[in-house]
Amino acid sequence: MSNKDYYEILGVAKSASDDDIKKAYRKLAMKYHPDRNPDNKEVEEKFKEIQKAYDTLSDKEKRAMYDQYGHAAFEQGMGGAGGFGGGFGGGFGGAQGFDFSDIFSQMFGGAAGGRQPDYQGSDLQVGVEISLEEAAKGLKKRINIPTYEECGVCHGSGAKPGTSATTCSTCHGSGTVHIRQAIFQMQQTCPTCHGSGKEIKDPCVKCRGEGRIKTSKTVEVNIPAGIDDGQRIRLSGEGEPGRHGAPAGDLYVNVHVKEHKIFERNGLDLHCELPISFAVAALGGDVEVPTLDGKVKLNIPKETQNGRRMRVKGKGIKSLRSSATGDLYCHVVVETPVNLTDRQKELLEEFERISTGLDRSQTPRKKSFLDKLGDLFD
Ligand SMILES: [Zn+2]
Ligand SMILES: [Zn+2]
Repeated sequence: MSNKDYYEILGVAKSASDDDIKKAYRKLAMKYHPDRNPDNKEVEEKFKEIQKAYDTLSDKEKRAMYDQYGHAAFEQGMGGAGGFGGGFGGGFGGAQGFDFSDIFSQMFGGAAGGRQPDYQGSDLQVGVEISLEEAAKGLKKRINIPTYEECGVCHGSGAKPGTSATTCSTCHGSGTVHIRQAIFQMQQTCPTCHGSGKEIKDPCVKCRGEGRIKTSKTVEVNIPAGIDDGQRIRLSGEGEPGRHGAPAGDLYVNVHVKEHKIFERNGLDLHCELPISFAVAALGGDVEVPTLDGKVKLNIPKETQNGRRMRVKGKGIKSLRSSATGDLYCHVVVETPVNLTDRQKELLEEFERISTGLDRSQTPRKKSFLDKLGDLFD
């Protein structure tokens, strides 16, 4: 697989808008479409490359992943889950994403390529919701998905027992019809048999000629450690089964990571608030901070100011792709105490009394503020 930069392939800038990307793609797709360049392997490869680049950059999630991880984001064979990010590799006319028909309906008023016989199973999408802890550690999840099974009465043929399907009279069994439009000779899925090449005159009563019956199945999905909200896993061949022995579609599992009470994720890093007392902020001291696997001690240096960011190394999320692990950032919030007792008030009043009139270098922020005020009114 070529690893040329997708932006380069489409000839757009990294900052290109969705519209720019679409425009660039259309221009290139028209130029390199195999129907305009028959039997030219080089052009066909180029066309696939363009299509792949567009498939990624036109999808918000995929584009974000590509920007972050590059081609690695879409490599196959991840953790047994059958690849990641999905939608590639189907060649043109693949069931996923590629809307060539869109371009062609504009060019020719509705005559799309028909490379994809519609008896192939369609892709399915399901969503799973997991916690941040689960996303960090990875998990196996069993999900129930709708599917079809072969009809037990007609054994998939769709024809009433004792009868059989006949060759389609429209396409004579080929499943496609040819239409001529302008300079193009186009192939289209046969409208009578929808590509199967067969016509059923006497349909099976149980499945009404479908050859299959709706049911559901359980699939185990291996969700890899490090997965982020919005990413998806492709399980190749686990989508809707095809009809009449055609290949099944793929199953896409869209992962949604629930909001966490304490942590917010940003890339591989985690962020949280860390409230500390005024006294600890001034004098320093050890505090406990939460991580995804238990609490750890963190030393707050003396004279820590509100808003300071403290890093706990290696307590973020492990990368899907490399050995890298993110960090945990604790954002210090110096908390003003409430509901003070008389004794506490007394001590604070005393503290204030002995602080008044002292060198302002003890309160650098206040000093700088007063200096600026001074400049303002001079
Ligand atoms: Zn049947
Ligand atoms: Zn037909």
